[in-house]
Amino acid sequence: MQIDIITLFPGMFAGFLTESIIKRAQEKGVVNIGVIDLRDYTHDRHRTADDRPYGGGAGMVLKVEPLFEAVEALKTPESTVILLSPRGETFGQAKAGYLSRRDHLILICGHYEGVDERVCSALVDEEISIGDYILTGGELPAMVVADSVIRLIPGVLGDPDSSVEESFAKGRLEYPHYTRPSEYRGMAVPGVLLSGDHGEVARWREEQSFITTSRRRPDLIKKFPPTEKEKKE
Ligand code: SAM
Repeated sequence: MQIDIITLFPGMFAGFLTESIIKRAQEKGVVNIGVIDLRDYTHDRHRTADDRPYGGGAGMVLKVEPLFEAVEALKTPESTVILLSPRGETFGQAKAGYLSRRDHLILICGHYEGVDERVCSALVDEEISIGDYILTGGELPAMVVADSVIRLIPGVLGDPDSSVEESFAKGRLEYPHYTRPSEYRGMAVPGVLLSGDHGEVARWREEQSFITTSRRRPDLIKKFPPTEKEKKE
């Protein structure tokens, strides 16, 4: 998969690209990530990528020409062009799964007041929001989207079951995890996890998953009603 990120602030991606699982995914050749400086697509001496809004008002708006030129330089028939925007569809695990099966994502990071509306209406395939709050720019949202997508690409996680088991994968929050020591300051690990009985462990995990989801996210239980197995347990 190829992911290209268009930004005014390429330096913000340094840590994201060079640490942990995202670093290894690139080394393995599972994903190639390009960070494109929007100013490379400007044509004036000052490399101007933003301007004041027509009609007045606070803040600056990212100009239409460099964004069109940057996307056109990268785009192929396989590309999905995404604008990170608080006005977009709220991002979730299902969308991450869908995007992880695309060949090429182009992520556009807005900044300041946002982008010229012609980018939204004529350049992008979709707009994605990472939640109902406003960040200073689309760089963190682009990292959020890229991270959640990349870890779902086959070959990225050491154990492919990791992404199947975790929260949201089946409309349930994940069960609790423990590691050594088996007792710490009087807090003991549930005995079933030490029993070596894989069937019992699986049953306990499913039960815990259902209990946690019911308590914390009843909306998920409504959306994904209890299975026959969960009803019995
Ligand atoms: N004036 C815009 C508004 O009220 O909707 C907010 C602009 S915000 C300060 C600047 C940029 O940050 C946006 O263009 C977008 O790219 C990004 N951004 C901020 N919050 C976001 C969110 N929750 N999800 C996705 N992108 C976001």
